[in-house]
Amino acid sequence: MCGIFGIYGHKEAAALTQLGLYSLQHRGQESAGIVAVDDGGHARVVRAMGLVSEGFEDEEMEVLDGPISIGHTRYSTAGASAIENAQPILARVRRSHIALAHNGNLTNAVQLRRELEDDGAIFSSTMDSEVIVHRIARSTGETPEARVAEALRGVEGAYCLLVVLDETVIVARDPHGWRPLVMGRLADSYVFASETCALDIVGATVEREVQPGEIVAVDRHGVRTLQVLPPAPINRCVFEHVYFARPDSKVFGGSVDRSRRALGRQLARECPAPGAEVVFAVPDSSNSAALGFAEESNLPYELALIRNHYVGRTFIQPTQSGRDAKVKVKYNPVREIIEGKSVVMVDDSIVRGTTTRGLVSLVRAAGAREVHMRVSSAPIISPCYYGIDTPRREELIAARMTHEELTKHLGVDSLGYLSIDGMLSSMPEGPQGYCHACFSGRYPTATPSEPELLRAGSAAGLAFSRA
Ligand code: 5GP
Ligand code: SF4
Ligand code: MG
Repeated sequence: MCGIFGIYGHKEAAALTQLGLYSLQHRGQESAGIVAVDDGGHARVVRAMGLVSEGFEDEEMEVLDGPISIGHTRYSTAGASAIENAQPILARVRRSHIALAHNGNLTNAVQLRRELEDDGAIFSSTMDSEVIVHRIARSTGETPEARVAEALRGVEGAYCLLVVLDETVIVARDPHGWRPLVMGRLADSYVFASETCALDIVGATVEREVQPGEIVAVDRHGVRTLQVLPPAPINRCVFEHVYFARPDSKVFGGSVDRSRRALGRQLARECPAPGAEVVFAVPDSSNSAALGFAEESNLPYELALIRNHYVGRTFIQPTQSGRDAKVKVKYNPVREIIEGKSVVMVDDSIVRGTTTRGLVSLVRAAGAREVHMRVSSAPIISPCYYGIDTPRREELIAARMTHEELTKHLGVDSLGYLSIDGMLSSMPEGPQGYCHACFSGRYPTATPSEPELLRAGSAAGLAFSRA
C-alpha cells in the first residue's frame, strides 16, 4: 500500500506535497519521494528511504522548485526495500519527462513486463509501476490524457496514479476503484490525494472522488475529465475502512471514523462478551472500533494498552526471546485497569496472529481474570493481490486453524470475529461494491498467474514492490 499526493498550480507545490505526505505516512513508511516541475518544464526528484520527516534535507527541498508536484509514501515490505524502488518514478523520454506515483498492485505486471522486455525495454527497478511508465513512453495519443488512457488499456489490477507528462498532471483510477483517490481545491490550485486528511493538512477543500475508470488532466488549458477506461464492477477495498485509512479521513466518500464505529457496534451485536467489565483497543488502528463496541455493549472504554510512538521501524531487536518480545517494545498494559477484571480486547484484524498472541500474554501478566478477544473484521483467509501486503495463505493464521484451535493458540477465553455480512453492512455506502477477497476468498478478477513473482520476487530479480 502507498500514499500519493499531487498539486497543480501552486508556487509552493513541493512544500505542500511534503506536508501532504506527512498525512499519508501511515500508508507507507519504507520510502518517500517528491517530484517537482518548474516553470521552464524541468522536472526534479528527491527520494529517500524512511519517513517523510527523515527523508528531505532543506537544500533538497529548495531544489524542488515550480508549480507542479507529486509525491509518494511507500509501504514497508520484507523484500525489495531499496531506493531504486522508491517513488515517484522519474524517467526522461524524448526531450521530456514522465513522473509517476502509484498506489495499488497490478495483477498482470509480470506478463506486461515480459512483453516489454522482449521488445527491448530496460527496467531500472523491480516495481510493477514501472511497466506503466514504459507503456506511457510508447503511447502515441495526441493529448497527454489520451497517452495515459492508451497506456492503461490492458493493464489489470489496482491503481491510483498521479502522472506528470511535460507540464500536465494526469490522474487515473482503475475501473474497479480498489483504492481511494480524492480531488480538491486550494485557491486556484488542484490537489489530489489518497485520503482527505492530506487535503486537510494543506488547507484544501475536498471537491470529489476521482471516479473508478476516470482520467483527469490538469494543465494551463484547464481541467479535462474523461471516463475512458472500460466500465467494470466496483470493488472498493473494505480493508481501507477496517484498517488502512486514517479515521479522520473520508475514503470512497464515507467517514472512516463512522465506519469503524459501526464495525465495532456490529461486532458487539454479533459477538457480545457477557460478564465483561471493560473494553479496550489495540491502539491505534482499532481505537474507533473498540469505542463502537463499548458504546453498543454499555461497557466502559479504557486506555489499557499504551503504545510507544517512538519505536522506529528499525528498532534494535530486543535480546529477550519469546513470542511477546517484539510486542512488548511497542505496547505496555496499564495494570490498574486490567487487574482482576474480565476484559474485552478489540483489534481490527488478525493476520499472522503474533500481535494478538503476544498482547494476550501481556494482558494476562497484568492480572486480567478473563480475556475476550474481539476482531472488527472477518477472519483473513486469502492473500490480497490488489495492494495490501497480506502474507501467503500458509502464514494467515485463520486459514490454518479452526476457531477452537485459534482460541487456544491465542490463549483467550473467547474469540469473536465479525461476519463478512456484518462488515459489509457497516460500510457507509452500503454493502454493495466492495472487494472482500481476503476475507471470503472470492476474487473479483483473475488473480495473478505467477503470484510469487509478483510478491517477494524471484532469483531472476523479477521482484515487484507492494505499492
Ligand atoms: P498479526 O500479528 O496478526 O500479523 O497482525 C495484526 C495486527 O497488524 C493488527 O493490530 C492490525 O491492526 C495490524 N495490521 C493489519 N494489517 C496490516 C498491514 O497490512 N500492515 C501492517 N503493518 N499491520 C497490519
Ligand atoms: Fe482489500 Fe482484501 Fe480486497 Fe485486498 S483482497 S483489496 S485487502 S478487501
Ligand atoms: Mg493494529
